[in-house]
Amino acid sequence: MTFSRSLLYGLVFGTLSGLLFGYFFAIWFVNITGYNRYTADALLLSLYIVTLTSLVGLFAGVILGFLNHFVTLVFGLSSDKQKLRRRLAIICFGFGIFAIFDFLWLISQRPVFIYSLSFLLGSLVLFVLSFVMAIILSSGAGMLSGSIRSKKFLWMGTPLLAIIIFLLAIHNYGGEKLKSPQEVVLTENRPDTKLIILGFDSATLKIIDPLVEQGRLPNFERMMKEGSYGVLESNVSKVMPFANSASQGMRSPSLWESIATGKREKKHGIFDFQITLVPTLHHHLPLRIPFFTRYFPTMPTISSVHYLKRVWEILDEYGISSGVIRWFTCWPADELKHGFMVSDRLTLERIATPADLQEALPDYSGFTMDELRQRFPTLPEVPFVDAPAGKLMKRVSENATPVEIDACFTNLFRQYYSMDIYFGNLSLDLYREHHPTFYAVYFYAPDVYIHPFWKFYEPQYFGDVTPDQAEKFGDLINQSYILLDEYLEKLLEMIDTNTTVMIISDHGAGPWIEEGVSFLPGFKGKKYHPAYSGSHRQDGVVILWGKNVKSGLRIEGAEVHDITPTMLTLLGFPVAEDMDGRVLREAIDDEFLRQYPIRTITSYETEPHRYERPKLLTREVAADLEDRLRALGYIR
Ligand SMILES: [Zn+2]
Repeated sequence: MTFSRSLLYGLVFGTLSGLLFGYFFAIWFVNITGYNRYTADALLLSLYIVTLTSLVGLFAGVILGFLNHFVTLVFGLSSDKQKLRRRLAIICFGFGIFAIFDFLWLISQRPVFIYSLSFLLGSLVLFVLSFVMAIILSSGAGMLSGSIRSKKFLWMGTPLLAIIIFLLAIHNYGGEKLKSPQEVVLTENRPDTKLIILGFDSATLKIIDPLVEQGRLPNFERMMKEGSYGVLESNVSKVMPFANSASQGMRSPSLWESIATGKREKKHGIFDFQITLVPTLHHHLPLRIPFFTRYFPTMPTISSVHYLKRVWEILDEYGISSGVIRWFTCWPADELKHGFMVSDRLTLERIATPADLQEALPDYSGFTMDELRQRFPTLPEVPFVDAPAGKLMKRVSENATPVEIDACFTNLFRQYYSMDIYFGNLSLDLYREHHPTFYAVYFYAPDVYIHPFWKFYEPQYFGDVTPDQAEKFGDLINQSYILLDEYLEKLLEMIDTNTTVMIISDHGAGPWIEEGVSFLPGFKGKKYHPAYSGSHRQDGVVILWGKNVKSGLRIEGAEVHDITPTMLTLLGFPVAEDMDGRVLREAIDDEFLRQYPIRTITSYETEPHRYERPKLLTREVAADLEDRLRALGYIR
């Protein structure tokens, strides 16, 4: 066979393989992200993916074709046995080419740890896939050049493939299907109850239980005894291959959206801390794509990209007053007809609605170092460092001196603690003033404390914590729960007896250590980052307390998307059939359910949502939002 023929066969087969692989990847991707709602965009995106994989296939095919010719030329192999040996040699070369791609890909996946067991396993899987791909390419090109001599195969095969792909495309990219509008009929006698929902990011019974036992959380203890509680199972994102490690696939923006809509990520469309704006695509991609971050504008997930009705928006439509404080993905703050909203970004504009509330917000001034050390005498005496949290965490590296590390961690704690106190007090003041029927308040605590301080909380898992450090910082995670307990005390004191209170978290927490690969030089078997030592776990918590809640019941099998149906039921509203969760009815008083039985409607989403492509944020705003993600180890 001539050289040009060998190259041509490699090229054709490589491109076809890349095309097929790309198409199946595109189907998987647009379906799993719910991006197939946007037919035109999804087709265009699929075209990009297919083009990219075809080019990679073309490249690999040409190289294999070249090898095919080269090996024959040099070794003059002709017998069957020798042909087999040649084929094997080519496959190994092909495998090498793919392996290099895989390695680059994997490095882009793991921002903190690349020497971990999961990294090794991931590599193995991809390497095996590479091997299979090399066999397919090499045998396919061999088949083309050997047994099928006629060009008919190409002339007939290509249009056939195009038709199959077209049919599959039409089947898969169907656009958004909306239920026909339905009038929601409210019961005339809606229960005269109020509902307060408290979001404690990352709270878990694993930490609450021992603290309750020690008598350090009297208000949690009271609510758990008098009310119902249990584990609230978190949701690991289906786009786990695009996960970053600090969240372990449990990403707070997505989970808090599930909590507020009763729907899974695919329906509500919020997947990640960041989104990607691909030029020529009208709709944003709901996640950050590793590696391509450099080429496409990436920005934090902000409130304008949410498109399903959150529970307070449903209530607002039916004239129920509400207040929302600092909920995740609520900047810029939305307008509510019957309520108010405060987002969590104090340094930005449009943090509160209505406008007069923005004007009236009290000035934020955090704790001074003296005030902080009065509260926490074990904290080291360090200077006040005026730097954003993400920048502080960046300074905690292996080369930092113990004094520098003390200064960074103490100032980090000062910032987070001051913020939680500020927003806690603000939410109490606003509640006292407005008394809304529905109130949602979100706290950073304990999430922002678990990420940096876990190694001091359980130093036994980490090799670089001195007893002195454990003494200074070991109680800070507990202190974040105590802060919340003190908040609960003030809140429970001022609410009416017809109020139900729900505490929820989006996920639990645990130490962030990755089992290592022992053959790497200078490696001790376990790997962790000096700054980020806590990560997410699946066991969050739900506590129901107050009006219409059963006492002493242990809730089993609750999940994040069960919260909205439960909230709607407690307020006498029907649950929508298109919600993925169930009502946690076992925790609700039977008498209440007899009087206000659970009703359902088809959907609250009756109008196609008006989509506005998010505008790129100014550099200052983006930096402010991204700093928080950097501080927690979600982006680097
Ligand atoms: Zn979270």
